[in-house]
Amino acid sequence: MERSLLIAANWKMYPAPDSLKNYLSLKNVDVVVFPNFFDLESCIKAKIVTGGQFGRPEDTGAYTGDVSIAMLKEQGCTYLLCGHSDRRWFHKESNEFVAEQTARAIELSLHPVICVGEREEERDAGRGKEVVEAQLSAVLKKIGDAEVTYAYEPVWAISRGDPTKPAATPNDAQEMHAFIRSLLPAKIRESTRILYGGSMKPENCEALLKLPDVNGGLVGGASLDPEAFATIVKIAAEC
Ligand code: PEP
Repeated sequence: MERSLLIAANWKMYPAPDSLKNYLSLKNVDVVVFPNFFDLESCIKAKIVTGGQFGRPEDTGAYTGDVSIAMLKEQGCTYLLCGHSDRRWFHKESNEFVAEQTARAIELSLHPVICVGEREEERDAGRGKEVVEAQLSAVLKKIGDAEVTYAYEPVWAISRGDPTKPAATPNDAQEMHAFIRSLLPAKIRESTRILYGGSMKPENCEALLKLPDVNGGLVGGASLDPEAFATIVKIAAEC
């Protein structure tokens, strides 16, 4: 099935780079940016498709330091990143919490991008698929066959500031993407976009983006460099 690729930029807790024009969607490639909360407004004003990196399902409440999905919607966001491994690890977000967040985003018409992926020790113990299946099934139990986007981000391939970290091999990525797709409800199995994330760069993106079950990328480190990001988007347009 033909789906246009989606390239997502996760700027994490870094300031917005210059050259916001490099983050606009092209005719045949969708682009979305997840900036820090203070840069949401400038991205939205620059006509970039913008999403929150985190949002709480409750609309308001005594949750110091948090922001609600409803507030992100009010601000003009159209996407929400759910369950990034940084959030699962540093903020102990559970599979159930990620599922609740996803469901609330759908209710508010924000498109969720749900991150799943195993840690290095889980992979080494041969538990990669088991971990990913548990993350996915908590979400599916809550949202059924609602249309969302998934991002497979093997935690062992995420750069965390190390530009020399290798991405997953195309074989490893394709195997897990096909597995994830096989777990999706039949109605949305073929139409769902599954992004790959983990050290995607201009040098390795073509091999990953051409895989049959990879429908785009979630880019961290390389998305902070406007030239590198624009190159990834350009390569995606040719894939
Ligand atoms: C991420 O943290 O979502 C990510 C994919 O980072 P990087 O591209 O730097 O590995």
